Amino acid sequence: MYQGVYGSSKKHDADLDQVIKRAFQSGLDKIIITAGTHNETIQALELCSKYENLYTTCGYHPTRCSEFNESNENEILNQIFELCEKNSEKIVAIGEFGLDYERTQFCNIEQQKRYFEFQLKHLISLNKPLFLHNRAASQDLYDILYKYRDQITKGGVIHSFDGTLDEALQFIQLGYFIGLNGCSMKTQTNLDVIKQLPLDKILVETDAPWCGIKPSHTSYSHIKTQFTSETVKKEKWASGKMVKDRNEPCTIIQICEVIHSIRGNQESFEDLCEKIYFNTKQLFFSNQ
Ligand SMILES: [Zn+2]
Repeated sequence: MYQGVYGSSKKHDADLDQVIKRAFQSGLDKIIITAGTHNETIQALELCSKYENLYTTCGYHPTRCSEFNESNENEILNQIFELCEKNSEKIVAIGEFGLDYERTQFCNIEQQKRYFEFQLKHLISLNKPLFLHNRAASQDLYDILYKYRDQITKGGVIHSFDGTLDEALQFIQLGYFIGLNGCSMKTQTNLDVIKQLPLDKILVETDAPWCGIKPSHTSYSHIKTQFTSETVKKEKWASGKMVKDRNEPCTIIQICEVIHSIRGNQESFEDLCEKIYFNTKQLFFSNQ
């Protein structure tokens, strides 16, 4: 990621370090990288070792659950436990894991459900918040979370939320935060849901690099901060430049701007950001 490669063709030099520096310079305090396999967590930890305020997650994404089978499931579980125990400061959440019924070509529903529950049941004992993925699977995800509600002590976030208001409120009632990014605010229907969410249950994320706010999205008209002068097409990339249509962490301010605008400026922009920052610390960094 951020290696200058698009599809299979190399367009420019790797600029991951610049992306991270730009994020911290723009005022971000901490960043959580989301990993979706054991190997991704190992890669993320390498990056975390270079930057004090980078953190990561540990677990298997629903589209990667085909890697589990009856003969290796305990071995994979032990690998996750070992990583989490050795890196307990840097691994701040379990996940991302959950259910994705829009991409069953990578892993069928039955296997997804089985191994989401398998991970949840065993990894709860690590006592970390849950970073949850949900696509068109709210009811099944809810049912499994509900089943383990008494053992889940740290709560979690339903990230990149794009469901209905009823679904959001169900998760909130069960103690979860709702994570919003560019993919959560593409349509007017999305915005109507976000408008009605309680601010003390909202988290923001960029889910970079694919989930940026695009001119075709309804949310676009609510953005104030543009990065026009810093952004070039990938073919024209130069050191220090952002790339058109490639999202990165410093754009998180736009997510806050959209939420602020659609809430009708109920509070000052600073108060809104402060509140969301507090929510994030409460969920992921309560012991710091
Ligand atoms: Zn996800």
